Amino acid sequence: MRSLVAVALIGCAGNTLPPPAGDDVPDVDAPVTPTDGDPGLEPGSLAVTWMHGSANCNTNTDPEVQVHAYNATTLIIRQNKCDTFEAPFVYVLLGSDTALLFDSGATQSTTLRQTVSGLIGSRALLVAHTHAHGDHTAGDGTFTGQPNTTVVAKSQAAIQATFGIATWPTDLGSIDLGGRVLDAVAIPGHEAQHIALYDRNTGLLLTGDTLYPGHLFISNWSQYHDSVIRLAEFAATRPIAHVLGAHVEMTSTPGQAYPYGTTFQPAEHVLELTAAHLEELRAAVVQLGPSTPNGGPFVHDDFSIEP
Ligand SMILES: [Zn+2]
Repeated sequence: MRSLVAVALIGCAGNTLPPPAGDDVPDVDAPVTPTDGDPGLEPGSLAVTWMHGSANCNTNTDPEVQVHAYNATTLIIRQNKCDTFEAPFVYVLLGSDTALLFDSGATQSTTLRQTVSGLIGSRALLVAHTHAHGDHTAGDGTFTGQPNTTVVAKSQAAIQATFGIATWPTDLGSIDLGGRVLDAVAIPGHEAQHIALYDRNTGLLLTGDTLYPGHLFISNWSQYHDSVIRLAEFAATRPIAHVLGAHVEMTSTPGQAYPYGTTFQPAEHVLELTAAHLEELRAAVVQLGPSTPNGGPFVHDDFSIEP
């Protein structure tokens, strides 16, 4: 039996990283992404091998969550694919007085809460969501009612109030965690209440299920079309260190995704995308037009557009 409670805290040093404690560590495509150093941005490291499930989950020995420190105040957590095939990535951003957890994960286990609690010190915890789908909100109940913790409701009104978005979806919002301002961009389309967050300190753009290396499912094409254009215009005027989504479903072979629902992803694509990928997505949706396109999926090297 694999452990359900172990937590791997994998540091950001980049040169002494242990592989995940699994049986399926890929021997190629070790994801090393040096931050290319916009001098105005706090640097971080994505030199990490993410746990990625097992061919036989009965033999999986990986922890329930894997924590990677991008830097001292930015933590990226992945859930175990053998617990949830969605294996979402969630983000912990530490300000001087508030910690933001962006998504509560795909399971109702208390491990994520215990892990986050160990990362944030005495800061207040705000739990917000990229969007309302269950694999991003299933852990809400484990945070609700905890001391010094606020869980943002899934309603559009609650999201607008939390981030100060005056007119949905066209106005920008923002939130200050204490010396750390995040901009909020409303990007409905994958789901009606979807937002992206941009961290002015690190230049990270957190895009949830709107853009990530995988199956980009879209519930409302015309909204998605407009949202991608608006997000790309936003990003074009800011330094973007990385575009970070909520899943990985592409292999490291260009244009090849894993079958949706798989619990084993050997040699998977790296998590991080770039501003150029957002521009590539923008150009693609513009070319496909504002009305739901026929056909698809529209497969690109690093993502697949699936209206
Ligand atoms: Zn979703």
